[in-house]
Amino acid sequence: MKALNIEERVRVVDADWNSWDAICDTTSRRQEDAFYVLDIGNIVNKYRIWKEKMPRVEPHYAVKCNDLQIVVEVLAALGVGFDCASKIEINKVLDLGVSPDRIIFANPAKPASHLRHALASGVNTMTFDSEFELLKIKQLHPRANLVIRIRCDAKIAQCPLGFKFGCDPISEAPRLLKQARILGLNVIGVSFHVGSGCGEPEVFSRAIEHAAQLFALGEMLGYRMDLLDIGGGFPGGSDSSIDDISKVVTDALDKNFPEGCGVRVIAEPGRYFVASAFTLACCVYAKRQLYDDDGDVKHAMYFLNDGVYGSFNCILYDHQEVTAIPLKGTHGKVVSSSLWGPTCDSMDQIARDVQLSNLEVGDWLVFKDMGAYTLPVASPFNGFPVPRVSAYITADLWTMLKELSPLTEDHFVGGETISRNDCLLSSTLAPGPTPVIPVALN
Ligand SMILES: *Cc1c(COP(=O)(O)O)cnc(C)c1O
Repeated sequence: MKALNIEERVRVVDADWNSWDAICDTTSRRQEDAFYVLDIGNIVNKYRIWKEKMPRVEPHYAVKCNDLQIVVEVLAALGVGFDCASKIEINKVLDLGVSPDRIIFANPAKPASHLRHALASGVNTMTFDSEFELLKIKQLHPRANLVIRIRCDAKIAQCPLGFKFGCDPISEAPRLLKQARILGLNVIGVSFHVGSGCGEPEVFSRAIEHAAQLFALGEMLGYRMDLLDIGGGFPGGSDSSIDDISKVVTDALDKNFPEGCGVRVIAEPGRYFVASAFTLACCVYAKRQLYDDDGDVKHAMYFLNDGVYGSFNCILYDHQEVTAIPLKGTHGKVVSSSLWGPTCDSMDQIARDVQLSNLEVGDWLVFKDMGAYTLPVASPFNGFPVPRVSAYITADLWTMLKELSPLTEDHFVGGETISRNDCLLSSTLAPGPTPVIPVALN
């Protein structure tokens, strides 16, 4: 593995650190570019909660959600499996030394070259939802272990997926199972994805019931059905919890796939593992004010160094709602304000009308829960770079993780201290006229 340079390494810090302090510390060091703080402990904690709430369900992280190298490495070290949708995602995981049987190729529509690559690299478990995919698999990867993807949409979802993927469990799936049988292919199970950012936990119960019926049909056709894949859809924000969904899932599994029935249950969480681990800090690098007839400010426009072509693409594609928190706190009266990204496109708007107290050029805005469907989609359009990520881990967690393959001592850098001075200064300022805290711009 190539040596990591200092900025790419995870900083080992004291147990009482937090992302906010790390942001204050970084911004006090004459940093101007937008950046992320990644809390590795937050990912580990998500894993711990998952194991506690759904011990039977083996998570396979959906790489597309955030394919940052260190994220994939930490999850691999924890023993998580992976949902890959393409040749490059497969390679990303295999290059870490992860065994191909920890990967599910969960793209029901696969380019032929990617299918050949799966065969060559020993990735044998994959999904399908049409007869055309079956024919392609028959030709290119005939001994694959197939998982039929059915459609079962949540009534509420941040990003529905059913328009594009999943066959109808009643009107289409039985025919496809029979076609696969005629082709001599091997079906081993059922998968679904209820929609990303699922807001209706009960949908998991409906989907698992459908799966159970197809397991019965599959067995009748002579398949050995032993894999149930309950997909993604789990929330990942810092104020969210998987309690409701895990309860529905556990009950539905107990009823339809009781423990000891010989069925392995997996899931493909993406958002769940990464959303809350990433906090984004953006700098106000320019502003404009619009005045009313009395000469009072009626609206403030703030220009940030990350926008909808960068991290905030999540507003357009992932329908995320983002909240800007001024690093210096709220002081004085609030005004209607809009937030804009750095490109010359007028569509590059992060927030149209939010109430903020006056910000100066050089002030920082913080956005929590920015780990899911942000970075991998971001582009450096117009010459504005995608923000860098600084990762942090506490010393005790580091002791546990540092030798869990694929992590090594080399992934970490010790002796880092976070200075809290600037934060304490700004966050304890009483409301009133805001003294300008100088932030030197390069
Ligand atoms: C995107 C995707 C996921 C991850 O979904 P989340 O809602 O982020 O958990 C899982 N499986 C498949 C097939 C996907 O396309």
